[in-house]
Amino acid sequence: MSKAVVSSLYDSDTFKMACRQFDQAADAINLPEEIRDRTKYPRRCVAVALPIKRDNGSVTVFEGYRVQHNLSTGPAKGGIRFHQDVTIGEVAALAMWMSWKCSLVGLPYGGAKGGVIVNPGLLSEGELERLSRRYMQELIPFIGPHVDVPAPDVGTNEKVMGWMMDTYSNHIGYNSPAIVTGKPLSLGGSQGRREATGAGVAYLVQRYLEDMKIPVTQATVAIQGFGNVGGETALALAAAGAKIIALSDYTGGVFNAGGIDVKKALEYVKYQRTLKDFHGGDPITNEQLLTLPCTVLIPAALERVITPENAPRLQCRLLAEAANGPTTNAADKIIEERGDIEVIPDVLCNAGGVIVSYFEWLQNLQNFYWDREDVMQKLFALLDKARDSVEYQKRKFKFGRRLAALTLGIQRVTDAKQSRGLFP
Ligand code: GLU
Repeated sequence: MSKAVVSSLYDSDTFKMACRQFDQAADAINLPEEIRDRTKYPRRCVAVALPIKRDNGSVTVFEGYRVQHNLSTGPAKGGIRFHQDVTIGEVAALAMWMSWKCSLVGLPYGGAKGGVIVNPGLLSEGELERLSRRYMQELIPFIGPHVDVPAPDVGTNEKVMGWMMDTYSNHIGYNSPAIVTGKPLSLGGSQGRREATGAGVAYLVQRYLEDMKIPVTQATVAIQGFGNVGGETALALAAAGAKIIALSDYTGGVFNAGGIDVKKALEYVKYQRTLKDFHGGDPITNEQLLTLPCTVLIPAALERVITPENAPRLQCRLLAEAANGPTTNAADKIIEERGDIEVIPDVLCNAGGVIVSYFEWLQNLQNFYWDREDVMQKLFALLDKARDSVEYQKRKFKFGRRLAALTLGIQRVTDAKQSRGLFP
């Protein structure tokens, strides 16, 4: 029998939340004790100090992490987050969710995540480039196209991936696009990668609305978070005919019962950087947005925003988790007991991003590039397949949808670990 590992390193609310989800899933499928701890705890991590020359000549040292949760099912895969509140515990939880997500949708990857404690909005473009390059430089002994393949996450984008790819390629002496995904098209990025996460969220929302017999043209949508994922989700759902009634970012939100012009909001944010003072409707707070009456509520920002305080007051029919880990364990329980809200859990809902990352990596390894139509068609086919398996698991074992998705992801990882055996 295994003894639970007490991990002080990762101790945090988000890591505890991911562990609790794992424990519930492991119990639900009677996972043998001896496989539990080694599936649950991250395989390895690095912490790096990143000294950066500032534009004023001074030097600031930032702290960064990379956690590889699982390497049993392929190279580790997952984004890099630049955010002032990053902790190693949060990164570990996000890495764990990447493991379940990749396995759930059938990608030959393990799970990883990286993070740097920095508010990228306070850096100049030059400082951001130096930080991105230095982080990659420090990671070189720990990653590789067949070891661990980073990608964008909150606070990073194509440009950052381009700098990282260049740093790695310069180090090894030849062009190595497969080291990161989410790159600019000119460096071997994939068609459709930028919009992939949001397009996937919008696709799944439409499939679930169909099941609920709600025409998308009658659906109202509230989206928390207006970065890459929130913005692309809003665009795709608006194009499908849904009415986007609320949007927000960290500065606050905007509400318009008649529908917000998403393209205008995106144009505004391109120049102003935030939604603050956007005149597309009435100002609301993030907390107000979450409890608005709407058909679809889409948290597309950070973890743990749906809490036991607001869960009883949610007024949506469908909760589509575009963010990773937006719903706490206690809130999840409340929503399940209420029984009037369908949930598309994060590991399924936002999997479009890593799916197209996988396509990008394949294209890089093969030096053979696909057109956009091909990418999108293959993306939706994989999402359909994962959705069908989740619905089957849900019906067969009478699980909630999150438990169905997590048990599938976790089972595939433990199957691989058991088949490989314990080394040495
Ligand atoms: N950061 C994204 C996620 O959380 C994408 C990861 C990837 O493409 O590797 O799923």
